[in-house]
Amino acid sequence: MSELHKFLFDGLPVRGMIVRLTDAWQEILARRASNTTTGAYPTPVAELLGEMTAAATLMQANIKFNGSLILQVFGDGPVKVVVAEVKPDLSLRATATVVGELPADARLPDMVNVHNKGRCAITLEPKSRLPGQQPYQGVVPLFGDQGEKLDRLSDVLQHYMLQSEQLDTTLVLAADDKVAAGLLIQRLPVKGEGNLEGTSERDVNPANEDEIGRNEDYNRISILASSLTRDELLTLDVDTILRRLFWEEKLLRFEPQTGAEGPRFVCSCGRERVASMIRGLGVEEAEDILAERGDIEVGCDFCGRQYRFDAVDAAQIFTAPGDQIPPPTTVQ
Ligand SMILES: [Zn+2]
Repeated sequence: MSELHKFLFDGLPVRGMIVRLTDAWQEILARRASNTTTGAYPTPVAELLGEMTAAATLMQANIKFNGSLILQVFGDGPVKVVVAEVKPDLSLRATATVVGELPADARLPDMVNVHNKGRCAITLEPKSRLPGQQPYQGVVPLFGDQGEKLDRLSDVLQHYMLQSEQLDTTLVLAADDKVAAGLLIQRLPVKGEGNLEGTSERDVNPANEDEIGRNEDYNRISILASSLTRDELLTLDVDTILRRLFWEEKLLRFEPQTGAEGPRFVCSCGRERVASMIRGLGVEEAEDILAERGDIEVGCDFCGRQYRFDAVDAAQIFTAPGDQIPPPTTVQ
């Protein structure tokens, strides 16, 4: 079963988390494989999507925020967009759009950063948005300080965490066709239990910036964490990983989050949301589609569900009062 483990390094300004997505991840892959239009993800895309899903889960669990965390990569190559969305209760979904051929051994730049124009966006979308309120969004390129293309998603996200949150972060991510997993280690301005309270980009200690890269405890733990191999992360259980990496450190472990409390696949799509999307198209566009195809068919990219609206359904969409239906968002 999928699980999330949080832990602290006793007395040190460092905390960590490990996520292992098993059933949730296999469900995402199985739904895609059974989609007759797209077929299964090519292996490199599945691995990237798995890493994104693991990373988004860690990032959501790492902040105090009542809303969805949406991690997106907008590619300039054969993979156009990769999305992972995680809610505060750790329910999650993910999808990728592949528009071209890619080599079997494609790396991150081959998929999404061919012309060095790929972007990674982290969006925090409040659960209930006030009128006129925009979701918070941070965007980072897929290259490093010298303009060099980054080979790993973890490098992109570490860069983001350092820039936007002023927090030293070490991420190790890996995914195959069974497991999507990640380890996050983070230095925080607060020691001990206060670490679990989390921080937001708004309450960063101003003195904290001086500490970036300088805390010896964090640096030692970060080096240990970085030694974790892809194979170890994918195949070992969490207790074994923590013992192997940090056997000389004093860890405070917390109750793992699993089952109904843990990371799990849930798609929040629904007929009302699709109806509201069609309303957004406008009556003329909808009538054009109806005239051409007989009905309007919309498939959910996340779960594969098909929604069909015939002329009568469509007429209802445009005559019924839509006040109770929330406006469409970027992720349906
Ligand atoms: Zn869906």
